[in-house]
Amino acid sequence: MTKTKPQPSFFGSVQNYFDKAAVHTGLHQGLLTQIKVCNAVYQIQFPVRIGNEYRVIEAYRVQHSHHRLPTKGGIRYSNHVNQEEVMALATLMSYKCAIVDVPFGGAKGGVKINPWEYNEAQLQKITRRYTTELIQRNFIGPSVDVPAPDYGTGSREMAWIYDTYRAFKGNDIDAAGCVTGKPVGLHGIQGRQEATGRGVFYGIREAVDQKEEMKRLGLETGIAGKTMVIQGLGNVGSYTAKISQDEGDAIIVGVSEVEGAIYDAKGIDIYKLLKFREETGSILGFPGAVNFQKEDRNKVLEFECDILVPSALENQITQENAGRIKAKIIAEAANGPTTFEAEQILLKKGKLIIPDLFLNAGGVTVSYFEWLKNLSHMRFGRMEKRFNQNILRQVVDLVEDSTGKIVTARDRMLIAKGADEIDLVRSGLEETMINAYQQIIEIQRRKKKIEDLRTAAFVNAIKKIGNDYLTMGIFP
Ligand code: GLU
Repeated sequence: MTKTKPQPSFFGSVQNYFDKAAVHTGLHQGLLTQIKVCNAVYQIQFPVRIGNEYRVIEAYRVQHSHHRLPTKGGIRYSNHVNQEEVMALATLMSYKCAIVDVPFGGAKGGVKINPWEYNEAQLQKITRRYTTELIQRNFIGPSVDVPAPDYGTGSREMAWIYDTYRAFKGNDIDAAGCVTGKPVGLHGIQGRQEATGRGVFYGIREAVDQKEEMKRLGLETGIAGKTMVIQGLGNVGSYTAKISQDEGDAIIVGVSEVEGAIYDAKGIDIYKLLKFREETGSILGFPGAVNFQKEDRNKVLEFECDILVPSALENQITQENAGRIKAKIIAEAANGPTTFEAEQILLKKGKLIIPDLFLNAGGVTVSYFEWLKNLSHMRFGRMEKRFNQNILRQVVDLVEDSTGKIVTARDRMLIAKGADEIDLVRSGLEETMINAYQQIIEIQRRKKKIEDLRTAAFVNAIKKIGNDYLTMGIFP
């Protein structure tokens, strides 16, 4: 009999991280237990007719914490979905929301299918049936629980979810707020698709601007010129790479995808690579790069670079490979890429880990903006854009009159543009990520015993959630 390697438990890692931080919070055990456990777990099996056969599909929705409502978190379509995984992801969502001051509890959904095995019509059928099950149990709604995209789902699935909800709850004036990540033309918001990747970029930029920390790592401050390796070119990985290259002048030296990995110390232009993959169906064979075949694709984690960005799935950096990681900074764009045991090895080696619960919170932050937009029934910027434009134009006129200098038409346009929805979303996201990072490092500064960013982030989240319970008088 062949022995299968025991998989490290993702949920176990999340709970270990919690325990490591909990001792620094000063909260009593009863309250800590309430914060730690999953408040509601819903498991369903439903039949769907696919061609001439019926398949019974296993699915979940877990609401980790009801301390704030609605609960919030994506829906994952993957063959690896299981109850523990969804519980771990829902748990991370609560802490993530707390860290970026998004007033939601955490949740997550999962449907155990390989989405690439089904055609569009079949996926639509599965999505609508799953949504119906959630509606029947009151596990979805703008004030109850608000799903979003995750691994294997996107705006298309969110549109189906919204339409199914609307069909059942036609009287709900806020129905559009039952799900986020919808297409922009269907009550979505500009900038949601890039949001997680953009947030990852802002988070990394903030971390590499810390003088002391960069000195400790033997690196210069600033993202420009830093070498970066990206594991996974899905939504998060590709936007992180594009924005880091465009706005940060980072140099992408390695990339991996399901088919393999590539490395080029001279740098890989991410747009050329994405185009190459679209045309050939693979990143392998990209001109100038060294190839690593499918079975060796995880070597990507061990490539020489300054910043390693795991942006695929959980449990990628384990006890087994942690000792071989060369990057000085590990930027966790995915949820749960580093196991608890692996983190101990990395920290001993002096690595800087920018933890998932902070770094990938950009997605839920912009989901929050979308939900607010849905509840207000108005696009951001609609009321004030013209007003601001007029005021700014008058300011430019005043400057011209008082200095005698003419402001060029291009500069005038730039200064007096007025903010569109995308400008406001990006600036709100940037503010959120910077603020969250500052809160975390402040905790680290104040508490000398907290040595790593993840523990500081957990302490911040646990304290905020704990404070809600204490204020509500639920715990003495
Ligand atoms: N699935 C994303 C995450 O893991 C987004 C969740 C959301 O927008 O609600 O953070």
